[in-house]
Amino acid sequence: MNTLGIDALDTLINQLSKLPGIGHKTAQRLALFILKSEPAYSEALAGAIIKLKQETRLCTRCFNIAESELCSICRSPQRDNHTLCVVEDIVDVMAIESSNEYKGLYHVLGGVISPLAGIMQNDLHMKELFERVEKEPIKEILLALNPSTEGEATMLYISRQLKESPVRITRIASGVPIGSHLEYVDAATIGRAILSRQDL
Ligand SMILES: [Zn+2]
Repeated sequence: MNTLGIDALDTLINQLSKLPGIGHKTAQRLALFILKSEPAYSEALAGAIIKLKQETRLCTRCFNIAESELCSICRSPQRDNHTLCVVEDIVDVMAIESSNEYKGLYHVLGGVISPLAGIMQNDLHMKELFERVEKEPIKEILLALNPSTEGEATMLYISRQLKESPVRITRIASGVPIGSHLEYVDAATIGRAILSRQDL
């Protein structure tokens, strides 16, 4: 696509079009918006991106986003450390937190088992999950993976691995439509799905 041969513009369009959901046309529009904006805006935008990478990392316990070794949820004495909610991604922690119905801890797998995409249990934070079940005073594992084929298979794998463990295994209830992603489900629906969870 013709971008007038201006290298700085092409570079920005190229970088923006790598973002999820951003095609070339949208990248062009965003780049032109930044071009026309006040210098203070582009500096703040660039600074925010650098700050995010410099000042955050993954929680060493649950793999949620953190500003120090442990995330704010793991550090909070208010959270119930007997319940562990297993999710696919950090965006699911955000979705569940916005429902205000869950007070336990999390474990972010970093994906789901998907043989077609070449993702097996060893590519996920699965070993760390089973270690936590052994070491921490966990009484319930709440599986809150997206109800896709891969999500279902991953929930089945976890429940089989923990078959001999005394821990109670539940999954979020209906209300979350099959095939939908938690991040797109409204907070009230997620809240209801957590409250009416079912034993596996
Ligand atoms: Zn954490």
